[in-house]
Order: sequence, then C-alpha cells, then structure tokens
Amino acid sequence: MINYTERLSLLMEDIVARVPTLSFIDMSRVLVFARSGRTSAEGAYATCHCTCLPPSEPGYYFWRDRRTGRLTRRSEWFVTKSPQVRIGPQPIDHMVSFALPRFTDQMLSRSRKRVHYKAQPNWVAKLDTIVHELYHIDPERPGIRRMEKADGTYSANCHGDRFFGDVVAMVNQYLDTKPDPEISGFLQHNFRELSERFGVVVASAFRGFPSYPQRYIEVLEPQPPPPAEVRCRVEPLKVPRVTTSFTEDDLVMREFLPSGSRQLIREGALRAA
Ligand SMILES: [Zn+2]
Repeated sequence: MINYTERLSLLMEDIVARVPTLSFIDMSRVLVFARSGRTSAEGAYATCHCTCLPPSEPGYYFWRDRRTGRLTRRSEWFVTKSPQVRIGPQPIDHMVSFALPRFTDQMLSRSRKRVHYKAQPNWVAKLDTIVHELYHIDPERPGIRRMEKADGTYSANCHGDRFFGDVVAMVNQYLDTKPDPEISGFLQHNFRELSERFGVVVASAFRGFPSYPQRYIEVLEPQPPPPAEVRCRVEPLKVPRVTTSFTEDDLVMREFLPSGSRQLIREGALRAA
C-alpha cells in the first residue's frame, strides 16, 4: 500500500527545507488532500486553496432594468467566509489538493513544461506541479501570492509573467541540493506502476468526497440598513447549508483506482460492527 498524500506531504516538507524562497512555509499548517481526476479528462493536476482569508466586505447582488438602468431588486447583505480547518490543535492556513490518478500520470514529454526542462526525466513535471502549488502561498499576508509585474503593479492573474520561470528555477534548485531519492522516488511511477508496485493506492480525502471545504456565503444577521440611495425590493438570499468547520474527523482514507475511488472502512468502524 502507498499513502500518496502522506508521501506528497513528506516531499513538500523536504522542498521547503531546501528551497530558500519557500522556507517560510510551515507545513504543519498546510493540509494535503486528494480529489478525483481521471487521467483521460482535462483539468488541473493540483490546486492551492487558502483557508485563512478574512471575511469579505459586506455585499449584495442586484438586478437592473435593462432599458432604464434602474435597480429593480437586490439581495440581502452577505459576506463570504473561509471555512475553518483544524488538525488537532493546529489551524490549517492552506490546503493543496491533488487530482488522482491524473497527477500520477503527468509526463514531462507530453507537457508544455518540457521546453523549460532539457533532458530531464518525465517525473520532473510532477515536481514542477508541487513547487508551483507551494509558490502560490503568500509569504506576507494570508492568501494567495500576488505577482508583481515589471512596472511594479500587481498582476490580476496570480501567475503573472515570472511565475512559471521562478518555479522552474526552484525545481532545479531543489534537485541541485541532491535530495534523498527515497523522498521523491514515488513520483517516478505512473498510476499503473504504483498499483503494481504497492498494490493499493490510498490517499487522504474529505468525508463528503468529492466535496471539500470551500469559501461560503453567510447572510448578515441583523441586516445593515439599505445602501445609500438604493430603494428597491429586497430578496432573501437562499444559501445552501454547508459545513463551515472541519477537523481530522472529517478526513478519511480512500482507495484510488484507474477510474474512480472508494472510501476505506475505518478500523474503528470495523471493530464496532
Ligand atoms: Zn497556479
């Protein structure tokens, strides 16, 4: 059996210990979890989620009459909030999710990244993805790193011009430190090879799989007064009831298969049966 998310976490700890730009990251505040993603489907290999952003400013939705431009109705005031995630006493600031098995089947030779890595093995594409997600963590404030443009202003796109080049430099910097191949060795295998070698591929995921903690809307109670000079009908906002705080009890082990996954029965549940 291989616990894929555990291996990723250990590798990320080694990366932040060896790459100075990422050394500010406290991996005990970063949670790695798995999402579903088939190899044959399009989509991200991994995503960095921030769970430490403060609530948004109060806002509302509104509708205008297309002809006159007048406001015809608006929603109640609401804010958006980050879910709370804690593992034991430790608050989690960021989560990095990996799409399985898609991530394991990523190949440099079939990726646009290959122009940046000359004569390097296929698995370096996966290392590039891992460093990419870690580089999204903002060193200065809670949130996702903003990329400064050449003119000193910030790019609206969190990737900016320099982002991909910086990632390549950090990947090579990591490899130049001659890290223990035991730590990154699992990246060499695609999903079929992992299954052959380890039998079962498991990873940590949220109990409500495929759902996971996401920013949510909260209607303000009590409602502030209407916005200045806005007089129109106010519609109640129907927001789905979602879980807003998560702990280690919300994490489960799932077995990943070439297409799909299944939750493993927990030891405790088995004993109680
Ligand atoms: Zn990105």
